[in-house]
Amino acid sequence: MKVELHLHTSRYSGCALDTPETLMRELIDSGYHAVYITEHDAVWSEIEIDELQEAFPEILIFPGVELSLGIHASMHMVVLGTTDPDYAALRYDQATALEKAQSHGNLTILAHPFRWAGGAALLDRWHIPDALEFRTSNHDASMGEKSRREAKRLGIRLVNCGDIHARQMINRFWIETHVPLSSANDIHDIIVNGLYDLCANKSKNPRGKRDNL
Ligand SMILES: [Zn+2]
Ligand SMILES: [Zn+2]
Repeated sequence: MKVELHLHTSRYSGCALDTPETLMRELIDSGYHAVYITEHDAVWSEIEIDELQEAFPEILIFPGVELSLGIHASMHMVVLGTTDPDYAALRYDQATALEKAQSHGNLTILAHPFRWAGGAALLDRWHIPDALEFRTSNHDASMGEKSRREAKRLGIRLVNCGDIHARQMINRFWIETHVPLSSANDIHDIIVNGLYDLCANKSKNPRGKRDNL
């Protein structure tokens, strides 16, 4: 299964350029089997997810959120598998957000930890998520290397994500797994147990040659 773990749409992310419908169509055409919608500090409701799923039965559509954490919102944490609107109120509160995710079986990924100064401060406070982003459209090869070292130090996983904000960002970075995803939280055990591969499309990434996936 080709899976996107990190995607924004124009419905709730002001920085995203394309509608959910445009993005789902492009993901299907690019061979994706599943996608998590992770807007900035906004959670899709179950009804919204169901409506989009009905319109696009060719791809599994799961909910999530990307929380802005830290005083300057320089830390972003993706929480997968939830439609709980209470998450949106937990921005800036990393300890509570992590605790809540862990108690609900939601996968947590620290997004682009080395994109901005302070992006990995969560780790210094020993609030440890399940995984770090390795490569994304917003995390280049040298940032990815820093993630690799941190993940090794902490004994946690690395994932590749599109961090998609527009349809042109589809098919650059993703993960693949042989484990079927039947419900939204299935991704937790797949990632924590390492049952997936990191994937990148070299032809779409001029610096892809420097990857060591
Ligand atoms: Zn982000
Ligand atoms: Zn994002």
